Amino acid sequence: MATNLQTSINYLKGVGPNRADLLRKELGIRTYQDLINLFPNRYLDRTKYYKINTLYQNTAEVQIIGKITAFKEIAQKRGKRLVATFQDETGTMDLVWFRGHKWIRESLKSNTPYVVFGKVNTFGGKYNMAHPDIELLTEHEQNLRSTLQPIYPSTEKLSSRGITNRMMIKIMQNLFLETGGKFVETLPENLRSNLKLIPKSEALLNIHFPKESDALSKAEFRLKFEELFYIQLQLILKNLIHKSKIKGFAFETVGEHFNSFFKNHLPFELTDAQKRVLKEIRVDLGSNAQMNRLLQGDVGSGKTIVALMSMLIALDNGFQACLMAPTAILSVQHFNGLSELCKKLKISIKLLQGSSKASERREIHEMLENGELDILIGTHALLEDKVKFKNLGLAIIDEQHRFGVKQRSKLWKKNSFPPNVLVMTATPIPRTLAMSVYGDLDISVIDELPPGRKAIKTVHRYDSNRLKVFRFIREEIKKKRQVYIVYPLIQESAQMDYKDLMDGYESIARDFPAPEYQISIVHGKMKPADKAFEMERFIKGQTQIMVATTVIEVGVNVPNASVMIIESAERFGLSQLHQLRGRVGRGAEQSYCILMTSHKQSENSKKRMETMVRTNDGFEIAEVDLKLRGPGDIMGTQQSGILNLRIADIVKDSDILKHARQHAKQVLKKDPSLGHLDNTVILDTYRQMSKYKNIWNYIS
Ligand code: ADP
Ligand code: MG
Repeated sequence: MATNLQTSINYLKGVGPNRADLLRKELGIRTYQDLINLFPNRYLDRTKYYKINTLYQNTAEVQIIGKITAFKEIAQKRGKRLVATFQDETGTMDLVWFRGHKWIRESLKSNTPYVVFGKVNTFGGKYNMAHPDIELLTEHEQNLRSTLQPIYPSTEKLSSRGITNRMMIKIMQNLFLETGGKFVETLPENLRSNLKLIPKSEALLNIHFPKESDALSKAEFRLKFEELFYIQLQLILKNLIHKSKIKGFAFETVGEHFNSFFKNHLPFELTDAQKRVLKEIRVDLGSNAQMNRLLQGDVGSGKTIVALMSMLIALDNGFQACLMAPTAILSVQHFNGLSELCKKLKISIKLLQGSSKASERREIHEMLENGELDILIGTHALLEDKVKFKNLGLAIIDEQHRFGVKQRSKLWKKNSFPPNVLVMTATPIPRTLAMSVYGDLDISVIDELPPGRKAIKTVHRYDSNRLKVFRFIREEIKKKRQVYIVYPLIQESAQMDYKDLMDGYESIARDFPAPEYQISIVHGKMKPADKAFEMERFIKGQTQIMVATTVIEVGVNVPNASVMIIESAERFGLSQLHQLRGRVGRGAEQSYCILMTSHKQSENSKKRMETMVRTNDGFEIAEVDLKLRGPGDIMGTQQSGILNLRIADIVKDSDILKHARQHAKQVLKKDPSLGHLDNTVILDTYRQMSKYKNIWNYIS
């Protein structure tokens, strides 16, 4: 009979209540199942031994053969530490224990060959290994069954309480003995043979005790595929269920507004990418399933016109539309831009902001409810309870990363039925991540800039070159261009950042004196009206320099601005730098981005600057960003299961991810309810999955 994998590890040979408690607290392992799914972090080539004179600091775990020549106890602040001198033919090092002294002294023999295994540190100019795994060389040789030894995740507490890697291996061996190494298969036969995936039991055996590296790769591939497959299956199913449950309304006609705009008022020819994306949106809107689409497009790729034309389709079908932007400045800009584009059409557009006057609000509320208002543009103010639509057909959210999922769903609830939703973002999310995080959204990408744009030239300059940079600014202003100078403003140190900004402003004002030069300044502490006023001066060309914090990061469009200077650029993340750079390069002129840093820079910062200088491609930048920061810091990932990945790595395993997604789609296309006999395994596994949060709690 198969062992019940829900059995508590208390009952496993070699564990017992104390160790079970530690394993639960430190690694979250409660059951046999949790333990079998504790995959090694890496593997040590057991045929490889280090010599003491080849160690260098922070070497990962190493194996060394040598002898103990002496023990001594050394008093320290609290208690004593036991130090053994360990010697090989090239030198000596220390082995250190902070507890269990008596037992260690009694059980370890001097001048007898041992193999020690552990992480090497230096202390007082000498190498040491604390709480090493230690084994007689003779025993070690007998135990050497496989050359690849698993290194399990551990914590300081575990190793200091005697749960060493060697003990973990023993415990794992016991688990295999007790269960006979037989585990429930979780992928169907046809899929496995199709993709040459090894059986589950074989994969688990080889992930823990690989015979050789080829067997290990096969085991890894099978388990990574499985992990990604079920995550994708879940996301795609969610999307399908969503579509079938939530009926939108089919926007069947493309009518007067859209056609008249397209024929007579389009200010430029759409790019192929814009056309393609519009078609995707039209198909969505034309079906009676609710649209839930993410529109990705680099800064300046022309998302706004796509948003407008989508709204026109809604209007043509007798519905209202709204566009929500994350900042007041941006909403004003959208309002002005869209009003201008639509002035020849018979449409009513209004702007609603936090600062809108009561009388204005009342009018907007009324017009919304009686259907006189076609398009409402605004900030978070759109989410207020008082804002009620007569029939909202399409809600567009610009720069989606500033809004949470909660806010998205709040917009939906504004109707008796959920409107179609289009979220637009200029922060390109790497495709691999988008697939995992936004698997429940459909995705459109504008991957082409409007023609005639000159690539922005980006350079990195040190603070010591500031005078040269100022000279360059002067030249550009002489050519009637405008310049942004941006300072970091980061919450925790806001007071100091604010001082930096003001100091910077003063020094710029000295170098660029009135009346020849006019300078705008915009920062978060200003009243919205003052901000808008300063912004307006810059947009109208009355000021040549805009000194600002990152409030201008999102969306602002001043085509005549051709220089973006970013102060303390090392303090910005890649995606933010890229966003800021996107404020220039919007006109026909050559634009520049100058990244200013001090000479002192971290490796990570150097890499960011290099990347910015090398490429303008938002997707490439996003990939580097993902590699530098890991998925955890990238917006939106917190809500997804992606952080719980046990064995796959969405950066390194993006190819497997693509495969997994494709196969999950295929399975669901042929058999959406998973009722087919072939898919019983998938259905069972999926059902288990819905019960538990972490997928590895059910996959075994
Ligand atoms: P973003 O995607 O960053 O929101 P915008 O919609 O603000 O970009 O567009 C950036 C600029 O490019 C605007 O000035 C817009 O008028 C212009 N633009 C957009 N599409 C085209 C096009 N197909 N041809 C020429 N210019 C375009
Ligand atoms: Mg925009």
